[in-house]
Amino acid sequence: MTGQHFIGYERSAAGAQIFQGINPATGEKLPLIFHEATLDEVARAVEKAAVASESYRRKSGVEKADFLEKIAVEILSLGDELIQTAAAETALPEARLQGERGRTVGQLRLFAELLREGSWLDARIDTAQPARLPAAKPDLRQMQRPLGPVGVFGASNFPLAFSVAGGDTVSALAAGCPVIFKAHPAHPATCELVAGAISRAAENCGLPDGVFSLVQGAGTEVGMTLVQHPLLKAVGFTGSFRGGKALYDAAVRRPEPIPVYAEMGSTNPVFILPGALRERGESLASALAGSITLGVGQFCTNPGVFVVPDLPETAPFVRSVAEKLSATAPGFMLTGGIRQAYERGIGQLQRVSGTERLTASTPAVESGAVTAQLLRTTAKTAMANPELTDEVFGPASLTIVADDKMQTLAFARSLHGHLTATVHGTPDDLNEYADLIEILETKVGRVVINGFPTGVEVAHAMVHGGPYPATTDSRSTSVGTSAIRRFTRPVCYQDFPENLLPDELKNNNPLDIWRLLDGTWTKGYS
Ligand code: NAP
Repeated sequence: MTGQHFIGYERSAAGAQIFQGINPATGEKLPLIFHEATLDEVARAVEKAAVASESYRRKSGVEKADFLEKIAVEILSLGDELIQTAAAETALPEARLQGERGRTVGQLRLFAELLREGSWLDARIDTAQPARLPAAKPDLRQMQRPLGPVGVFGASNFPLAFSVAGGDTVSALAAGCPVIFKAHPAHPATCELVAGAISRAAENCGLPDGVFSLVQGAGTEVGMTLVQHPLLKAVGFTGSFRGGKALYDAAVRRPEPIPVYAEMGSTNPVFILPGALRERGESLASALAGSITLGVGQFCTNPGVFVVPDLPETAPFVRSVAEKLSATAPGFMLTGGIRQAYERGIGQLQRVSGTERLTASTPAVESGAVTAQLLRTTAKTAMANPELTDEVFGPASLTIVADDKMQTLAFARSLHGHLTATVHGTPDDLNEYADLIEILETKVGRVVINGFPTGVEVAHAMVHGGPYPATTDSRSTSVGTSAIRRFTRPVCYQDFPENLLPDELKNNNPLDIWRLLDGTWTKGYS
């Protein structure tokens, strides 16, 4: 049995290099054989996307909403086959995958609602003032327009929600951009099933050939070829820092540089303030251990470091977290490569002088599974060794003990960019550490109070992004409806006759959307 690329509506598998998915729980190769996409297959996918872009970019919000909703229906109609295929390729539990499918389908429907409502286009109208002196003011109208073909890369840890029909694909399609998806080699059969769902939805909606393509590959060449194709206009990436930075560097070196929205790893610092530690240390220890080990720690929002004040309550709190992590059953990671990187990462943390491991068992156990790990160091050591706050992807965390508030603030100031930061405090703590929260706002995309960073709601107000190196562009989010703005740019229409204007900018506002009319938000007429 052979997997196929989707080059628009055409199926193909011309490459000589082959690879197979691997069941991470057994180490066995899975039956479907995939061919690495050839340079020609990648090029044809981008060329078809460029042609499709000419008509797809003109589709109305309602037409694109219908498309997204049909994709959701097609994904659901894949039924158990999708869940079982993803479970075999990732070792993720079926219940988790069912939840992720719900999130993926919900995300498609949320974007469909956004498109039907229409105000996201940020339509602006400045009416003409022909009599203005000393010079007449022209009629100016602005709205967001799609960038063109987008290359999308998904991560291994979300085979549905950050993969073929994940947030990057959905926001690009919603923006009016065709998508060429580079499948993740850790779940190629899952990618193929979802690509089939998108392709069927596109055909049912009568959309142009090339509006969606999927290319498979188990090396860097397919992705690099995609990013360097001259007709590609933007890239959405979720994955490791190494991968995201390599693709970003390749994109900026092109003759025509293009934006790369790479969402990469993060350590998501958690700050536990003195009052919270005294009042609820034990319940915090349980909740923190739960967040560290959720999904074998394979979340980009995993709390990889937590900062505690040096108090009498600190030692019992840290001991309790260590005990809970030690008592957590070993789990299988998504790939052998990720497991090896986890083992290596723990070793590197331990080798930093002044850092010790508090959990007894080694990170990797005989069955091929991994155990949760807790390490401890001081804020002084962490500031002197910034690599201690680099992501170790997996169920591990580093306790950082700070001498006092000044040192806590100094450590926060020393942080590089992360996706999230969390603060646990009583109302008095939060008042006293208001300056900590202000520092953290400059370091992350989402600040959480008295909660945990794992679990990213798909919503209008969500920001899943952050300053470098969490992402390559901190001005955006990859989750939530504002993700659509990554794949559009503003166009201004000056002195256009009414019949040439897009409906969104016509005088009588036929789509009934909110517009900034001469400086005032209104649904009224110009
Ligand atoms: P990954 O190894 O970087 O893979 C992501 C994709 O990029 C794959 O298709 C991979 O293809 C491709 N790729 C990687 N390096 C490349 C290169 N140099 N040139 C061309 N293509 C390249 O990431 P992963 O292991 O799947 O994901 C785990 C990481 O993702 C963790 O660090 C996690 O924190 C992060 N993550 C971030 C978010 C977020 O929203 N910020 C969400 C989930 C996960 P090949 O394997 O074929 O090279």
